[in-house]
Amino acid sequence: MITCFDIGGSFIRHGLLKKDGSVAESGRVATPGNDFQAFVSAIETCASADHGPISISLAGAFDERSGIADVANIPCLHKRNVKADLEAALNRPVLITNDANAFALAEAVDGTGKGKQVVFGIILGTGVGGGLVVNGQLVTGFGGIAGEWGHGPIVDPTAGGQLQGLTHYPCGCGQTGCIDAVCSARGMEKIHQTLHGVALSSKNITAAWHGGDDQATRTVEAFATLLSRALSVLVNTLGPDVIPASGGLSGDETLLSLIDRKTRELVLADYTDPLIIKGQFAENGGLRGAGIVARKTFGEVAA
Ligand SMILES: [Zn+2]
Repeated sequence: MITCFDIGGSFIRHGLLKKDGSVAESGRVATPGNDFQAFVSAIETCASADHGPISISLAGAFDERSGIADVANIPCLHKRNVKADLEAALNRPVLITNDANAFALAEAVDGTGKGKQVVFGIILGTGVGGGLVVNGQLVTGFGGIAGEWGHGPIVDPTAGGQLQGLTHYPCGCGQTGCIDAVCSARGMEKIHQTLHGVALSSKNITAAWHGGDDQATRTVEAFATLLSRALSVLVNTLGPDVIPASGGLSGDETLLSLIDRKTRELVLADYTDPLIIKGQFAENGGLRGAGIVARKTFGEVAA
């Protein structure tokens, strides 16, 4: 039997892979963030008793050449070769997939992108990330970097007018003005603080926007403008059939449709149908994607 995991900074969700490709989620436990032995024990406890393979969706970046992971929110995994270390500790095959890639794969194979050629799944939440799937195959690219459209100082730090002062936020990657720093949920909060001098959560900002509040409307308009500019370059580069979204901000379908409309206004192709939509697996793409990776790797074992 194959056990699938979706591991984030707070919780480990897990379940067994079923014959139809879905994952029967059987529970969640707190992630032991600071103690690798405790982390290994938690995985062992949740995994199948027959010592079958495990497939993990993990919130982190991986260098495919060295295997070293960058997992800032789970310190005991940070800068480790997670696959090799877990295989040695658990004595069973371990597959690891970045969580945005797992979500994109789930959408492309079984969700909103089923049967489509180019699917770019995006995460709009605490951070900004993504994954690229072409003809049903995950594209990880040089060093595993493909899909990381949230980084690179894309926003002009000298921009004036409507964008003045919105673009100088430092990013966790060490650069300034990344989409991840400006157009994530935390970015929306920073924009609101800059424009109005008021500290509000992204949930409260979007709620005030829905209620017609002028300040929140300016914040959301600026946020969506910046985000749609970055997305338009992505769309013109990849020609995606669909961009399914996941992450905390994707739960607001009015916000998604504003971002979708602004993006489609900027791209060269004439997309008549919505392009950026909420993913079918927005809530469980990690587990579903980990299951697909296991099916692709172990085939008949999973069936
Ligand atoms: Zn960055």
